[in-house]
Amino acid sequence: MTDYLSGLNEPQRQAVTHGDGPLMIIAGAGSGKTRVLTYRIAYLIENGVDPFRILSLTFTNKAAGEMRQRIEKAVGYEARNIWMGTFHSVFAKILRIEARYLGYTSDFSIYDTDDSKSLLRSIIKEYKLDDKVYKVNVVFNRISGAKNRLVSADDYLNNALIQADDAAARMPEIGRIFKAYTMRCFQANAMDFDDLLFNTNILFRDFLEVLNKYQHKFKHVMVDEFQDTNVSQYLITRKLSAVHRNICVVGDDAQSIYAFRGANIENILNFEKDFPDVRTIKLEQNYRSTQTIVNTANSVIARNKAQLKKEVFTHNDEGTLIDVIKANSDNEEGRLIATAIFEEKMQQSLTNSHFAILYRTNAQSRAFEEALRKLGVKYRIVGGLSFYQRKEIKDLLAYLRFIVNQQDEEAFKRIINLPKRGIGDTTVAKIAVTAAEHNVSIWQVTGHIHQYVSGRSTTPIEQFATLIKSYMLLVEQGKDAYEMASHVAKTSGLLRELYEDKTVEGLSRYENIQELLNAIKEFVDNADNEDKTLSAFLQSVSLLTNADEPDDDGDTDRVTLMTIHSAKGLEFRNVYIVGMEEDLFPSQMMLESRQDLEEERRLFYVAITRAERKLTFSYAESRYQWGRLKMCEPSRFLLEVDQRYLNTSKTTRSLNERETSPSPMAFLKNMTPRSATSRPAASSAHVPSSDFKASDTSTLSEGQRVEHPKFGFGLVSQIDVNGTDRKAVVKFDTAGEKTLLLSFAKLRIL
Ligand code: ATP
Ligand code: MG
Repeated sequence: MTDYLSGLNEPQRQAVTHGDGPLMIIAGAGSGKTRVLTYRIAYLIENGVDPFRILSLTFTNKAAGEMRQRIEKAVGYEARNIWMGTFHSVFAKILRIEARYLGYTSDFSIYDTDDSKSLLRSIIKEYKLDDKVYKVNVVFNRISGAKNRLVSADDYLNNALIQADDAAARMPEIGRIFKAYTMRCFQANAMDFDDLLFNTNILFRDFLEVLNKYQHKFKHVMVDEFQDTNVSQYLITRKLSAVHRNICVVGDDAQSIYAFRGANIENILNFEKDFPDVRTIKLEQNYRSTQTIVNTANSVIARNKAQLKKEVFTHNDEGTLIDVIKANSDNEEGRLIATAIFEEKMQQSLTNSHFAILYRTNAQSRAFEEALRKLGVKYRIVGGLSFYQRKEIKDLLAYLRFIVNQQDEEAFKRIINLPKRGIGDTTVAKIAVTAAEHNVSIWQVTGHIHQYVSGRSTTPIEQFATLIKSYMLLVEQGKDAYEMASHVAKTSGLLRELYEDKTVEGLSRYENIQELLNAIKEFVDNADNEDKTLSAFLQSVSLLTNADEPDDDGDTDRVTLMTIHSAKGLEFRNVYIVGMEEDLFPSQMMLESRQDLEEERRLFYVAITRAERKLTFSYAESRYQWGRLKMCEPSRFLLEVDQRYLNTSKTTRSLNERETSPSPMAFLKNMTPRSATSRPAASSAHVPSSDFKASDTSTLSEGQRVEHPKFGFGLVSQIDVNGTDRKAVVKFDTAGEKTLLLSFAKLRIL
């Protein structure tokens, strides 16, 4: 047997080599769940299972890609044939193959959240409902929530209970909106994200021959991050594995962080009911983190009532304490963290990719970006406004979508007057309504505008129709995705408009379009893609998740900035959990009940357990939120952590106060200005002496006292020389012991 089995502990090996029958691994963070899943797939292939018959569902497409690479290393290129990806991408693929059963064509469009909301906005307007009562986001969430519980528009309209609930919220018309939305999506030959799962369930419920085909096809079904699958996803996997019963799920209830999206920790509990002969394997040894980090994580999660008991331990080193950094403001927090990263990188000879900054909300990234940029440290942001969500990118993609699927109403609305052709919103709305009324596609109305709309100048609409027809002809002639995209970019006027905009933003938008064209070229040139059509390309981009973003240049050595939600499953040597303040983390918006608090705490647990060697928490005493300066209190989570593991010397005032107030609660509270009117205090970091001037350190020796602009005063305890590198170990009076590279450190010899 291949040597990878030797890189496993006993329970891991049992899981990897488990034969047939259901298998569940519920285990703590960093205990090797993903590793087990990966090796198990390799093991199965080595033992004769056809990769085409293995289905493996992961949290991001990137995770799937990494898993595939590892398996490829073990078993060779056969690994490419495994069915692997997110629930959405795998089932979109199946839906395309089986589209006709549901009355769709295999070229159906996928509406992203923006498209869905735009359609809802139109419907709310057409029904003349008050958009202050029927807020688009709320309506969207209600519909999405219903679909994730497998409630269709008709079920909804027949269910007095749900209706009463919405009526009580002064939204009695949600059912009607839901119904219209469903119809319009169908007419547009489009599915939204929730439909990909909802319709898969319908497909498997109503067409047994289809279900049968896939039940027999997939001999093994694997699910990573099982704690975050929702009911709809669970039902699909359960049905798919009903014949062979080889289902292997791995997860950690302590990391369930998507309750708000309908993910259901009860799946874990139900699994044992649905598969009573399940073999359950526990993994308890953490291989990722230091003892300090593991113990900290344990001390946090122990406060949650709702959890399956399990022990997590590690044989790794004890590691260093967790630094707590206090800043006066969000901007200062950005600077302190960026500086800490810069220094740590120099002192420990690390690369950018060893570092991650994790925050609760995307909006927090700005201060860190600015500070890192000033220090010349490269970073990448995962999530936020991603490349494929930028306006100019969506514009070109909308053209391409419409060329492939002329029923796509949202793509149509985006491009009909872009660049400006003098076609107003009213005309566009009228076309959409006319199409819905006559039960024909918008393309039918556009192409025969005279028949449907009278009395206006219809020339621009006719010109638009002619343009689109010319594109459709090229597709028929066999032009590939790249030829089409570059032709459309040039001839539609999109590129010209951006080219003429000479502002910095205009230029960057122009470059983004070029970047998209590069990506399409790469897609077409990639030998793996036999299907080079526009339709195939659109399929491949429509389901990219935020974590799948390309790095804009080839340089992958970057500090990662991301929300905690997107960090799930990942690991970094050094992790900074920032914005540890009340109302921000735990999030005020999410906090309505104890369950909500427990979910926020699980999120904190996820964040802590991403770190391998070093963890830092930071918070600011004031920050701008919604355009107003707001005073902040340290997060309650800082108080919940077992205080033995914290190094609070970086919150300078706390040290002095600690002597007089032994309770950690008291010292954290005391550090913070409580009055809402107080201004942010002066910087709490060391204020360099007025005569501070860095000295020549070539003669620096042990025993000398020095001053550092940030760490303050200290005593040199050791000098190490390594080639031309000279390092000094300095015991600072308040900042603790630091190793400084003398060619970088600014020190004043006293
Ligand atoms: P999470 O809960 O965060 O998803 P996980 O349980 O999936 O974590 P992995 O990511 O599979 O854990 O493993 C964590 C780290 O420990 C990885 O770097 C992995 O390579 C390493 N690891 C796992 N098992 C072993 C082992 N037996 N020997 C050495 N390293 C291991
Ligand atoms: Mg994992």
